[in-house]
Formats: sequence, C-alpha cells, structure tokens
Amino acid sequence: MTLLIQNIAHGWVGDAAGTRVAGALRIKDGVIADMGDLVPRPGEEVLDATGCVVTPGLVNTHHHLFQSVLKGLAIDAALDVWLQEVPYSFWPRISEETLRVSARIGLAELALSGATTVCDHHYVFSERYDYDPADVLFEEAARFGIRFVLARGGMTQGRDFGPGTPPPPIESLRGFLDRTAATAARWHDPSDNAMTRVACAPTTPNFNFVPEALPEIAAEARHLGLRLHAHLSENEGYAAQTLASFGQRPVPWLASKDWLGPDVWFAHLVDLTPDEVTMLAETGTAMAHCPQANARLGSGIAPAPALYAKGGTVSLAVDGAGANEAAHMGGAMYAAFALHRAALGVAGSQVGKIIHWATQGGAQTLGLPKVGTLAPGMAADIALFDLSAPQNLGLHDTALAPVITGSATVRHSLVAGRFVVRDGQIPHLEMPRLAADAARTTANLAQFAKDLEPA
Ligand code: ZN
Repeated sequence: MTLLIQNIAHGWVGDAAGTRVAGALRIKDGVIADMGDLVPRPGEEVLDATGCVVTPGLVNTHHHLFQSVLKGLAIDAALDVWLQEVPYSFWPRISEETLRVSARIGLAELALSGATTVCDHHYVFSERYDYDPADVLFEEAARFGIRFVLARGGMTQGRDFGPGTPPPPIESLRGFLDRTAATAARWHDPSDNAMTRVACAPTTPNFNFVPEALPEIAAEARHLGLRLHAHLSENEGYAAQTLASFGQRPVPWLASKDWLGPDVWFAHLVDLTPDEVTMLAETGTAMAHCPQANARLGSGIAPAPALYAKGGTVSLAVDGAGANEAAHMGGAMYAAFALHRAALGVAGSQVGKIIHWATQGGAQTLGLPKVGTLAPGMAADIALFDLSAPQNLGLHDTALAPVITGSATVRHSLVAGRFVVRDGQIPHLEMPRLAADAARTTANLAQFAKDLEPA
C-alpha cells in the first residue's frame, strides 16, 4: 500500500537551512519513499495538497496533559503561587477518568494544530492513586495514533507551599527509580522511529530531590537507555535557590551531577547567564522552549536564539495548558517568532528557523532521528496545514502561514503514514461528547476548589 501526496505547492523540509519543498511525496510502509515530480501509480491512494502548506509533523517536547482541565485558574499569579494554587492543589483530584478526559482535550488540540509527536512530562505519581497514570497516557495517545514520549516525572520531596495545600505526591527514591524502570520495560521502544518512548524526568531537580540522588538517577536512566528531562531555570527563583542551597547556579550545579549531555533536555531555561548558554550548547543539552507559558506566568523570554546561535539544540513546546491555555502548536510557533523579535529586533527570529525548532529540533531533542524531516527514508509524519480560513487569505508567501498567522490548523496529518487528522477531523473522536465530558469534569473540579475555600 502506497499513498501519494501530490500538488504540494508550499512546504518546508524542517531542516536548519529552512529549505522549502514542492511537488509530490510518496509514502510506503509508513516511510517517505520518494519525493519530487511524481505521478500516481495505478491503484495508488492519492491525497491532494492543493491549498495546504506541508511540513513535517510538529514535535511538542514538553507538556502536562493532566492540566487540560485546569485552565483559567490563578490567571494573575506568577510561577510560585500558580504552582501552589493549580497543580499542587488539584493533583489529588486527578482520577483516572479525569486524566483521560484531560489527555483527550490536550491531544485533540495538539493534533489539530499539527503535532504528530508529543512528549508529556507527567509528574504526579502517588501511592494514593488506584491507577497508573503512565498506562492511561500511553493508552490515550495510542487512540489518537500520535507518537508519544512519556517523561516520567516524580519527586522525593515537595516544596512547602504552606497550610491549605495538599501534601505533595512524593515517592521514595527507590520507588521512583523502580517504577520508572517498570514503565520503561512496558512502553520504552529504543528504535529510531519508536511510537512510544519513556524518559526519566525528575520534576524539578533543585527542589524535588536531594543533590546526592541526581548522579544515581542519571546513571540508572542511562543504564536503561532512557533520556533525562526536567524543568530548569524557569525564572530567577531557580538560580537564587541553587546559589543559596548549593553555592552554584543551576546549570554548572547540574553539570557536577552528570546532568548535562546530548541525552538531556530541559524545559524553559529562561534565566541563563551567557556561560550557562555556552555550557548547554557545548554539551548538546537541549531546550524545550515554552514561550507562551513563560509569558503567561511573567517568567521572561528564554534565550533560545543565543543557544541556537552557539550550536545548541532548541525545540518548541506548549507546556501544560494550566499555564498556557493556548496549548496549540501554531500559537507556540507564533509566540517564538514574535517574542524574540520584540526582544532582539527583526533579526531575533526567522520563519524557517521556527519551523526547524518545531520539527527537526524537536526530534533531535527527543532522540528520534527518523522523525521531524521531510526526506526519503524518514518516517511519514506529515502535517498538511489548511489555508481556507480567513487568517490565511491574502498571503503573498503562503508557506509562512503556519508560523505567522499563529492559528493554523491541519486538514490532514499522518504518523507513520496513518491518518491522525483527516479532513479536519480526528476520526475516533466525537467532539460534542468530549465537550460534555470536559464540562462535567471541570464542574467537579470547580466544586472541589469551592469546598477548599475558607467558610
Ligand atoms: Zn512544565
């Protein structure tokens, strides 16, 4: 069975040079078999790309799907108060059913905005749960047919958010490591075009573990072939804390714990010195750049262009919808495009570079070398952005649309040659039912929040 995508007039390879594509693309056995001036073969299925911009499927390298039912809370709070009032207040209420509904909302938004690979950093694992969040997330991703990396988070100590906040979801170090290993045994596929992967992802190393645990975690993860992920330097509070507690800024401190390298990526990295940027670039440690969440929480603008200019790896991410209600890949691309220009002038970003960060850069970050590039031999993960909505009309350079309109959605998307979105719809998903499930779940959580309020 082969599929020919023809009449491609506008598209991007996803490479660092910002190379454009046009013509046709043949998919065989889940892989891009050929590209160029191709004509349909007898009996071949044909997909018409007329009126679309074609890109590699987008890669979202940092998310928290459990937050898709926690939107619009603590809207004027900065990071610390937001953490207290949103994830660390609501986590005991994330039942299996709530997590499923939340994951479906997030995955639907991501799929319709062109994501074909999603990394979810799930960090609430507790012995109080009667279900395994890892299994739930992999099952929901499989229903969408989306490529899924679980960054298995967790913590052995919580931050003290004061009275009224539930105790944090902590595990013993051994429990964290053993459960991560068990999840990896079940779901981690090390192959270059894996549909499921596991990374070892302590929630926030400087707050959630004793320093002595970090080299042990890195060694065990590497022994299992797992990449390392965590939150880092989301705002200036991180450096203040590591300087006060450990006498170093976050990046050199983690370097001393074996926590830098080409198998490591961090979310945010907003507050970095030039020396820290250099250390990240020289070690190949990648950034999951979350421009919208950093803006929403008032944390700042991460120096992604500086890291990239020094040869570092940059990827794009929406972060959890609790801190970025616009958890849409088009929004993330537009935010990166616009914010770096606001900070640095028009040289601060280019459309081709943003596409690269959202595709090949994401694949490099997650260690999926067969993903994120339109070229023969690569996995057939492809997004066809629909240009029929009014925000796309009137464009003189149509290929710019997915980045500069900030709101493009896909007509079709494929993962390994299989449709995730077809004709603007997610085939298995009944949207009115999801809306009803979301309304019921949100109402239950709102009642819980009301019950918490002092009388
Ligand atoms: Zn995050």
